[in-house]
Amino acid sequence: RQWGTGPAGGFATLAIIDPGRTGLVDELGELTFGEIHRRSNALARGLADLGVREGDAVAVMCRNHRGFVDASIAVAKLGADILYLNTAFAGPQLVDVLERESPSAVVHDEEFTGLLEQADVEQRVLAWTDGDAGDLPTLERLIADHDDADVTPPDRHARIVILTSGTTGTPKGAPRNEAGIDAAVSLMSRLPLKQGWRTHIAAPLFHTWGFAHLALAMLLGSTVVLRRKFDPEGALAATQDERCESLVVIPVMLQRILALPEETLAAYDLGRVEVVAASGSALPGSLATSWMDHFGDHLYNIYGSTEVAYASVATPEDLRASPASAGRPPHATVVKIYDDEGHEAAPGETGRIFVGNSMLFEGYTGGGSKDMLDGLMATGDVGRFDEDGRLHVEGRDDEMIVSGGENVFPQEVEDCLVGHDAVAEVAAIGVDDEDYGTRLRAFVALREGASATEDELKEHVKASLARYKVPREVVFLDELPRNATGKILKRDLRDADGDDADGEDAGS
Ligand code: ATP
Repeated sequence: RQWGTGPAGGFATLAIIDPGRTGLVDELGELTFGEIHRRSNALARGLADLGVREGDAVAVMCRNHRGFVDASIAVAKLGADILYLNTAFAGPQLVDVLERESPSAVVHDEEFTGLLEQADVEQRVLAWTDGDAGDLPTLERLIADHDDADVTPPDRHARIVILTSGTTGTPKGAPRNEAGIDAAVSLMSRLPLKQGWRTHIAAPLFHTWGFAHLALAMLLGSTVVLRRKFDPEGALAATQDERCESLVVIPVMLQRILALPEETLAAYDLGRVEVVAASGSALPGSLATSWMDHFGDHLYNIYGSTEVAYASVATPEDLRASPASAGRPPHATVVKIYDDEGHEAAPGETGRIFVGNSMLFEGYTGGGSKDMLDGLMATGDVGRFDEDGRLHVEGRDDEMIVSGGENVFPQEVEDCLVGHDAVAEVAAIGVDDEDYGTRLRAFVALREGASATEDELKEHVKASLARYKVPREVVFLDELPRNATGKILKRDLRDADGDDADGEDAGS
């Protein structure tokens, strides 16, 4: 038997082609492709000793470090399925997911021990520990104690199960076959990553976006630079000091980097960087422009989801011409907009976004799937193509608000508000209203030291959008609740949102 495609086979191939080349750099140092391959051979044997078998599922709950990569490849080498757990899971949600997926082992960082103990998991392996592992086996111990010679490729391809962000409920498991991951290469028709680059993946690896870059690095023989936890200055330092050509982020990371003091930003030189790739949530147009004004025209906005992987890419040229756009579909990808009757919408008309590519997921592990039409999969978002063929994602189809008979997409209002100098972050939701059916309420966090009143912000919206899109209330908060992939948790805002919430000004 031979290795096929996918992460396990990919690293096995790189270990033959270029064993001495650096494949990974993290806070513990560097690993070559040869070392990555051998470590995962030993770990695969270690996991097999703990009882993991072909066809089982193994959960991985790690931050961005070598353990995530070791575990992923080792599990795939066993022909077992990999279930990536979101490191920001709250207790009850995690228990629900683990009960549903019932993995035979969990490889995790020590900091998640308390959480995982609530879930009654049989077999645990510590991937990262700062202290004493106690009775638990550690990943390094398993690697040290087992033979690292080549393992026999399994009969079965691993499935990679990535969880949705849980923006709208308990995270759903979205599987795809490891062999299909290579199709991510299509992205590169519009995202010009090159062979042998060094790439800092700051986006979480457990999410489709970060994981896709691990897979792409394997296809391109690139060096992956990882830091366990994101901090804005640390990301700049890693990108500069490790001489990276690309930086992979979620949009909120760009926002946090740009919020650093001017002298801190000025201390870093990202001159080598040719691609800054952002995805996972909407990239506000004002943020795209500010980033490019500061760091140059290397920013790409990729629209996708856990289920469809990717749909479109906005290049720097697209973002300069239309900063809030999500660009155009890459090679071998079809994006269509359909109206409610299932007819294709004309340019300029808003409708549901459907996508076709080779990476569509296989249906949720817990049952059910996304709607399909003409062989294309619904993303769950609404949007439109402009006259130049660029896609504009207007928001989730279930978030549209009908206020006084007019349709309002909160995202448009959010994009407008975040363009105000004083505003750091914003989320808009619909709340019940006796007269209008629904009225728009905006939650705003101001930049440090900045001030703005409710009326000023309403005027700001009124200056560029239709009257009915102006939020009826603005609620000021210190910061907005976000999940680990940087999405604002509107559910939490809705839950916290008693009808008595008043829009008092928090001027500073
Ligand atoms: P759940 O399905 O559990 O509610 P989720 O849909 O937030 O979670 P993801 O698959 O991580 O989980 O998120 C995909 C969604 O994120 C897309 O459907 C879209 O709404 C949004 N999104 C991602 N990238 C972009 C982008 N570049 N522009 C606009 N929206 C984006």
